[in-house]
Amino acid sequence: MDRLDTREIVKRHGFKFSKSLGQNFLTDESVLSDIVESSDINKEDFVIEIGPGVGTLTKELLRRAKKVCAIELDSDLIPIIKEEIGEEENFELINKDALKVNFNEIIGEEKSVKLVANLPYYVTTPIISKVLNEKYNFKSLTIMIQKEVAERINSKPNCKEYGALTLLVQYYCNTSIVRNVKPSCFVPEPKVDSTVIKLEKLTEPKIKVEDEKVFFKVVRDAFNMRRKTLWNALKTFKISSEDMKNIFEAAGIDSKRRGETLSIQEFGILSDKIYEHMRG
Ligand code: SAM
Repeated sequence: MDRLDTREIVKRHGFKFSKSLGQNFLTDESVLSDIVESSDINKEDFVIEIGPGVGTLTKELLRRAKKVCAIELDSDLIPIIKEEIGEEENFELINKDALKVNFNEIIGEEKSVKLVANLPYYVTTPIISKVLNEKYNFKSLTIMIQKEVAERINSKPNCKEYGALTLLVQYYCNTSIVRNVKPSCFVPEPKVDSTVIKLEKLTEPKIKVEDEKVFFKVVRDAFNMRRKTLWNALKTFKISSEDMKNIFEAAGIDSKRRGETLSIQEFGILSDKIYEHMRG
């Protein structure tokens, strides 16, 4: 199987790109190699690819994986991918919106599941949130996303990129940046720089919290009102001032701090104290 030539396929099929579907197809061979290498796919792995485009990355994944299931929303691309990939026993193509798919129906009994994608940028955060919040059994996600979002995911306390997305991803995963990618590596060129990032699911979340719903509400509220102190941001819990004072004291956290200064462990301690109070 030779590598697919993205530009040549697009031209031959007279394919018209849709901006609203985030169609920026990869043309750079070294980026393709880096995605495939860093995703660490082998013959045990069941790979889900979101948005295969004309199948450039798909074809490389098929060489290495036990099976590849690609989910593509654009019906115009379906006959093109089928023609370019050809008859492959270990390939399944689903013409659906990845945001509306129940991944468990695709995963079935598969044990080693990895997600690899050059994601359409308008769905980056919803896809990551869906995969993590709905607790699908993925071992890793190797994804190309906007550089700015990758920086948010890979951030640390006291950095301007640190936020609710950082904590959601770092609660469930170890994160590592694979490489940055220039707009000239795609056709058509996107307006922003991109980054390949790898998220490796931890067997247990990074910290143990009493109640995940409360933990993520504390995180969300703390960053919804970024410029406010925790004292003000967490008024949404409707806990009396006296009780709130005790909660902050018991957590050992100064209520005048802002959310962006708290480590994931501190968010855990604070949300546990709030949960204990709510439970009574
Ligand atoms: N994988 C190809 C590549 O690297 O050249 C194409 C990547 S392109 C950035 C994103 C792809 O996702 C497009 O093929 C687009 O049609 C598809 N797409 C957009 N929204 C989608 C959705 N909600 N569900 C599934 N696929 C989607």
